[in-house]
Amino acid sequence: MTQAADQLQRFSFDGTNIRGELTQLHDSYQEVLNRHQYPPVIARAVGELMAATALMSANLKFAGRLTLQVRLSGSVSLLQAETSHQGELRAIARYDDQLSNDELDFADGQLVITVEPEQGQRYQGITAIAGGNIAQALSDYFEQSEQLGSRFWLVCDGTRAAGFMLQKMPASADEDPDAWDRLTHLASTLKDEELLQLDNETLLHRLYHEEAVRLYPASALSFLCTCSQERIGTALHQLGYDELQSVLNEQGSIAINCEFCQQLYRFEQHDVDQLFPERQQH
Ligand SMILES: [Zn+2]
Repeated sequence: MTQAADQLQRFSFDGTNIRGELTQLHDSYQEVLNRHQYPPVIARAVGELMAATALMSANLKFAGRLTLQVRLSGSVSLLQAETSHQGELRAIARYDDQLSNDELDFADGQLVITVEPEQGQRYQGITAIAGGNIAQALSDYFEQSEQLGSRFWLVCDGTRAAGFMLQKMPASADEDPDAWDRLTHLASTLKDEELLQLDNETLLHRLYHEEAVRLYPASALSFLCTCSQERIGTALHQLGYDELQSVLNEQGSIAINCEFCQQLYRFEQHDVDQLFPERQQH
């Protein structure tokens, strides 16, 4: 079976106010897994969150970044996935080593959505994970903050991740009033393996062969980390000169791995001095 490259593809239904998105991730997801030894339960949740982030990026109407965080109170404290408006994804999980390999417990968790335009105001929305899963929390978020009916389906088998979204745009009077119930009901018959394995055209035909579905050109998704010597330097700067100098005295240099991509950054004495130009005046 041939699998499409990582992508996000929009579709709509003629004569309705309903649109959707489909995403499949393999390479970008594997790039994340290659850099971490996540237990299977974490790896699957990270994949689902990456698929969710890709679907959400369809709503980015400007250059910038979108971050989804799942904050939990148990042995898994954080799941985070990010995308740029160009579909460049990265993700991370923070958890303690005593994690049991059961299902993740999302009870009392929060879903935090952060949108950072390159120009303009940063925006953050927080939704309780009331329904016990990320897909339901995303639907709740759109209901509460955007007054848009939305349904999400997310799946990950540890190798691939995929997502499916339907969204109801503000209606005009003459549109098909039953379409939302009909289309979401049909979507709920979709099996996980169909979402993971079928190409978009086949999947949409299988669900909606009696509907007029319009499929738009797909956009590519990929793994890309945004770390740099400069960004790590900015983070180090916040620790203060004395703290950094004591590490230099002990270890000769400061070695930092990017938490997302494991890239190693090294700061020698002169690199640290450059972070504090005001100290070089005298
Ligand atoms: Zn990185």
